[in-house]
Amino acid sequence: MLVIGAGGLGCAAGIALARSGLELDVTLVDPDRVERSNLHRQVLFDDRDVGHSKAERAAEKLHALSGGAITARGVIDRVDVTNAEQLARAHDVVVEGTDRHESKFLAADAAALARTPVVHAGVVRWAGWAMASTPFESACLRCVFEDVPSGEVETCSEAGVIGPAVGVMGALEAALAVQILEGRREVAGVLHRFDARTASARTSRVKSRASCPLCGERATIRALDRERYAAPACAT
Ligand SMILES: [Zn+2]
Repeated sequence: MLVIGAGGLGCAAGIALARSGLELDVTLVDPDRVERSNLHRQVLFDDRDVGHSKAERAAEKLHALSGGAITARGVIDRVDVTNAEQLARAHDVVVEGTDRHESKFLAADAAALARTPVVHAGVVRWAGWAMASTPFESACLRCVFEDVPSGEVETCSEAGVIGPAVGVMGALEAALAVQILEGRREVAGVLHRFDARTASARTSRVKSRASCPLCGERATIRALDRERYAAPACAT
């Protein structure tokens, strides 16, 4: 299993996996260090981790929390066009826990090109969504959202996220990833939406879009081109 990002979603997914009792091989990739201001939602970390690599610390904690059932490896790197497809190909499922739109589309494209299932989630303030996708079987991220949104759309790093909403969506990502690994591929292509203010959840099956540029009949995305993921960067 490849976990992209050891932020709020990656931490919550990691704890759920660590407590699942399953024996898993997990690679966590994140370029950043633990910051005190993020501890409220990055629940794998505490004060002693501040300043250390998120990927390495998260890997150590997953191994310890799982009682050794999880073999985890931390990679201090940013997933980009140079490594994304190779990383996806080397794993049986991708759990994408980034907070940038362009990183989500990069993960979706890389996973499809590598023919590896991927689980996405996102949170803005109290509202979260999650969806698993099996390449060229179920709907993909681009069937739902089409493309990197233009500048006016808030990302969670700009709008802020509510810790418990991140916890719910990260745990759901873990549940979806485990089901994919267990062969329950029918969980893919279902969009889950959750509002932590009202604890209301909505689930809808998404149809693959014939005009999808990634998985449609005349798909145009055949490689990871840097220009496609060039949305303005923001602090994470
Ligand atoms: Zn698609």
